[in-house]
Amino acid sequence: MNKLLIVGTVAFDAIETPFGKTDKILGGAATYIGLSASFFNLQSAIVSVVGDDFPQEYLDLLTDRNIDISGLEVVKGGKTFFWSGRYHNDLNSRDTLDTQLNVLADFQPKVPENYKNSDVVMLGNLHPLVQSGVLDQMTTKPKLVVLDTMNFWMDCALPELLEVIKRVDVITINDEEARQLSGEYSLVKAAAKIQEMGPKYVVIKKGEHGALLFNKGNVFFAPALPLEEVFDPTGAGDTFAGGFAGFITQSENVSFENMKNAIIYGSNLASFCVEKFGTERMVSLEKDEVVSRLKQFKSLTQFDIEL
Ligand code: AMP
Repeated sequence: MNKLLIVGTVAFDAIETPFGKTDKILGGAATYIGLSASFFNLQSAIVSVVGDDFPQEYLDLLTDRNIDISGLEVVKGGKTFFWSGRYHNDLNSRDTLDTQLNVLADFQPKVPENYKNSDVVMLGNLHPLVQSGVLDQMTTKPKLVVLDTMNFWMDCALPELLEVIKRVDVITINDEEARQLSGEYSLVKAAAKIQEMGPKYVVIKKGEHGALLFNKGNVFFAPALPLEEVFDPTGAGDTFAGGFAGFITQSENVSFENMKNAIIYGSNLASFCVEKFGTERMVSLEKDEVVSRLKQFKSLTQFDIEL
């Protein structure tokens, strides 16, 4: 089985949406990526850090999904990374209310020995120096390195972020962040500028408006599935990235054509994530639900015009 190495936050989140509010619940980029990638035939491991305030029940939830957590450090007496956010009524935008790095502030990642030759590395959202630190430990060049990031790191660690961006094949980023990173309003121009920074492939996530994949002159667009109810968009971007990286890991094919399918898988899994608060829906999700929604995606995007 191919191996996927996942880096990112494992966190406590407190979320407010127009439909309700949560106390501290399980969150974090690596958590969502891991849960999403667990729908593929692969081996995966998470490299991250939590404090000893992190409940065993949450760790079990990851291992129940066959995610290797030997690279998830638990710091004695430390506090887990905490993020809190409030969504606007359109659910497409949110304000970060609080970010407490806690144990993440001086985290030194350690890649498990048997994952130093992973086929795919998914550098989820977290400090760019930690993302670089993981790449430094790989003993074999991965077939694909995917990076996800957010405005927080552009604001507080831009030089380090630009360094790690140089080293990756694919970047997944949302539309506002692509504009901030490139200084271009047009997403086509933004993608071109970001490609000049290093990644050959740029995926721009547009929330309920789908996702775009750019590579040189090629562009592909995947819609988001129109859903009757969106409850909480937290983790949708990470779930998308986990589906993308998971599909590529399973299929061992890093061509542009195959990345189109990876984007559909990512969008499909993200469409489930938003249906309930936090990780709840991803935890209850079954493989046959994933397959049946893929059929909806296919009919949503298929047309037959004779040219
Ligand atoms: P998404 O909705 O896909 O952007 O991801 C939301 C998740 O990202 C939440 O579960 C948070 O714990 C996590 N998160 C929020 N801020 C950061 C940050 N600055 N670095 C890493 N992860 C973060």
